Amino acid sequence: MATEGTAVGLSTVYRAPASLAAAGLTDAVRDDAGERFFRYRPQSHHRHYLVCRGCGHSQEIDSEQVEAWAARIAEESGFTDVHHTVEPAGACPSCTTHR
Ligand SMILES: [Zn+2]
Ligand SMILES: [Zn+2]
Repeated sequence: MATEGTAVGLSTVYRAPASLAAAGLTDAVRDDAGERFFRYRPQSHHRHYLVCRGCGHSQEIDSEQVEAWAARIAEESGFTDVHHTVEPAGACPSCTTHR
C-alpha cells in the first residue's frame, strides 16, 4: 500500500507541473544547480490593465497594492475564493494630446 502510494505520488508530481504550466498557473524557474522546477503561481495573481476609452489601448499596470488589499479583505472577512475586477480607464497620452 505504501509502495503503491509512493509510485502514484511520483507520477503525479511529474505530470502536474506541466499541466499547471500549460494553464498558466506556474512559472518555470531554475535553481542554482540549473535544475528546472516549477513554482506554483496562485490563480489570483493575474494582471490589471489601464485602458484608454478613446482608442482602446491598454497597458499593464502595477497592481501589487490592489492584490495585497484584496488578500487582506478576504482574510479579514473570512471569505474564500474571492475574485476582483479592477480596470481603470481614461485617456492615454496620445488621445490626450490629440483631443
Ligand atoms: Zn488612446
Ligand atoms: Zn488583481
